[in-house]
Amino acid sequence: MEYNHLTQEDIITLQSMVAPDRFSTGESNLDLHSKDQSMHPASRPEAVIWPVKREEVSEIVEYANKRLIPVTAWGAGSSLEGNPMPVKGGLVLDFSQMNRIIDIREEDFQADLEPGVTYQDLNEKLRHKGLFFPPDPGAQATIGGMIANNASGTRTVRYGSTKDHVLRLAIVLASGEMIEIGTRASKTSSGYDLIHLFVGSEGTLGIVVGATVKLTGIPAEFSAAIVNFPSVEAAGKAVFEIIRAGLNPASLELLGPECIELINREQDLGLTISPTLFTEYHGATKNQLAEVLDMVKEICEDHGCNDFRLGLGRDERDRLLKARHELGEMIFRRHPDCSPMSLDVAVPITAYPELIAIAREEKQKAGIPGYIFSHAGDGNLHLVFAGKTGDEKEWAIIGQVNQRVVSKALAMGGTATGEHGVGIGKRKFMEPEHGRGLAWMKSIKNLFDPNGILNPGKIFP
Ligand SMILES: Cc1cc2nc3c(=O)[nH]c(=O)nc-3n(C[C@H](O)[C@H](O)[C@H](O)COP(=O)(O)OP(=O)(O)OC[C@H]3O[C@@H](n4cnc5c(N)ncnc54)[C@H](O)[C@@H]3O)c2cc1C
Repeated sequence: MEYNHLTQEDIITLQSMVAPDRFSTGESNLDLHSKDQSMHPASRPEAVIWPVKREEVSEIVEYANKRLIPVTAWGAGSSLEGNPMPVKGGLVLDFSQMNRIIDIREEDFQADLEPGVTYQDLNEKLRHKGLFFPPDPGAQATIGGMIANNASGTRTVRYGSTKDHVLRLAIVLASGEMIEIGTRASKTSSGYDLIHLFVGSEGTLGIVVGATVKLTGIPAEFSAAIVNFPSVEAAGKAVFEIIRAGLNPASLELLGPECIELINREQDLGLTISPTLFTEYHGATKNQLAEVLDMVKEICEDHGCNDFRLGLGRDERDRLLKARHELGEMIFRRHPDCSPMSLDVAVPITAYPELIAIAREEKQKAGIPGYIFSHAGDGNLHLVFAGKTGDEKEWAIIGQVNQRVVSKALAMGGTATGEHGVGIGKRKFMEPEHGRGLAWMKSIKNLFDPNGILNPGKIFP
């Protein structure tokens, strides 16, 4: 596809569509929107616009479509696969100022949001109402970015991912037309499920300008446990048994010994350096949780755990799980001269122990600092490498490991990306994963965006 660069006339026209302080071609703003949190090389847009109204988005996109100018939506830029990077230049629409919580209907367990609301701000508002929005990717992230990436996180094993929490969407299509899809009813059998077509489409089919999301009541009681195991394999088997026993963990995370070493350096938990499960439970009463935790302990002991550290109540739970939540940031801090590459695959739960073993072997062979941690309850594994920035040899090794681990995950019936999305980095795995399905995805893309202006260069190889 051939795109046009912005002319002076385009700049004048686009500038007139928003307030003067919400349009920029300034160097620092272009740099700030040239790179997400991944290791992919930066790529600048030609202008950045901060819309605050649906109508503005509609007018800008309609103009860009007529002029064949690429448009890439930007939430908080926290993606890990280059998803919001404007690889073909053009416009970035930054939604950070379109961030109002329009309405919280607590008795319907729903909230109407603008796309730039962050899930942290939403949860802060909801806390006082006894409600929360469960999907929790580790970084600061907007609802628009979470919808576009179908983000998930530590609580997905119990509450589902973003796709399970979207009821209605307002979308600006490539033509500039705005459509509203979905329903406020908690179930529907009405027609094609367009909601789930747009969730996970990475801003390539349309721009989210409004969303109604489903909320959940904050449970009355919380507990958490940190459990050390002699081997990753033993921990992996305990994960399987906890799920099979129907104990309904609210999170079930497996961290490799290298992660525990890092946590011990930064926080005073004094954990044994071995593969460790961080697991959380939510319930109606303390007694109910105590019973569940007894069973979890029994399963872990059956698999030879060394140490079972229990935290009952919200404060203890928070103390124990804080370390897990901050792990990503700890890795960034530990390797300031490196760029992180977060390998992200998911497999059926039965294949998970084997996947972990493969990742561990690959990590050892690579000889580059690497951290294995996973949303084990979902069979979703991350192997984060800290490769020296600009060291071609190291990055070639990391690329080969990525290729091998993803191929193994696909052979096990899994997926090339459990939660980070395709972006730039996972495009080459689309064909092996989807086969002829990929051509149908391309047809859908052509239908909604015939000129290919929306986030070009993503998803498709
Ligand atoms: C330390 C760290 C930990 C992370 N942990 C997790 C994790 O556990 N789980 C997980 O899922 N992710 C994780 N991520 C990745 C990332 O945080 C999520 O994918 C997040 O949802 C991205 O949101 P964002 O607002 O930053 O979106 P961006 O990165 O800005 O954009 C993401 C995609 O959404 C599109 N987009 C943005 N806004 C809109 C809109 N209004 N309409 C249409 N498209 C739009 C962009 O074009 C892009 O394709 C992590 C990232 C970091 C840095």
